Amino acid sequence: MAEKILIVEDEQTLLETLAYNLRKQSYEVITSSDGHSAIKAARQHHPDLIILDIMLPGLDGFEVCRILRQEMTTPVLMLTARDDEIDRIVGLEVGADDYLTKPFSMRELLARVKALLRRIRLIREEMGGPTSKDTHQIYTFDNLIVDTARREIRLNEQVVPLKPKEYELLLYFSQHRGQVLTRDLILERVWGWEYIGDSRTVDVHIRWLREKLEVDPANPKRFITVRGAGYRFEG
Ligand code: CA
Repeated sequence: MAEKILIVEDEQTLLETLAYNLRKQSYEVITSSDGHSAIKAARQHHPDLIILDIMLPGLDGFEVCRILRQEMTTPVLMLTARDDEIDRIVGLEVGADDYLTKPFSMRELLARVKALLRRIRLIREEMGGPTSKDTHQIYTFDNLIVDTARREIRLNEQVVPLKPKEYELLLYFSQHRGQVLTRDLILERVWGWEYIGDSRTVDVHIRWLREKLEVDPANPKRFITVRGAGYRFEG
């Protein structure tokens, strides 16, 4: 089955060029030219990847990314015309998976698209095969339950709302309980091969998970810091 890519870009010529080249690579392409219709299209078509321009009529790319991040973990490749936007793009506020600065070559874009989609396949494989979306897998750690079918975390039988990246990070830990995981490895597996952020991103997310899931976040029993190495999930 072809992977589905949503392209959001209001410059018609660029939109058509992108769509043409991605279709030539056998991807299924959906297009959108403004922020509101982009959100609608993402909800309706559940793309495997979103290519999102920042300067858009209506909602801009930042707002679109923020809204979609609450609802889905689809990787987002942002397009920007300005270098000074990069910190915001990869920062925690917006949390895009990758970005390209205009002008970019089609070869570069295709390489990024491939890398992001490969990461998603890898995550699905680790979760138990390409059809894992439909596989009901439950990890139980005492009073903590990670339910992959519902994408839901329950602590003492109460659902704990997690942001998409917090969920993915916890899932990755759940699959590697007891192993020491370096920040670089975590960044690679949870944020993607091409992610340009620094390892503090991992630390901040661990802090949030501790605040939500530890009895005493200052004295963690689940998410253990391994000095000079990284983190270990004790369950
Ligand atoms: Ca634009």
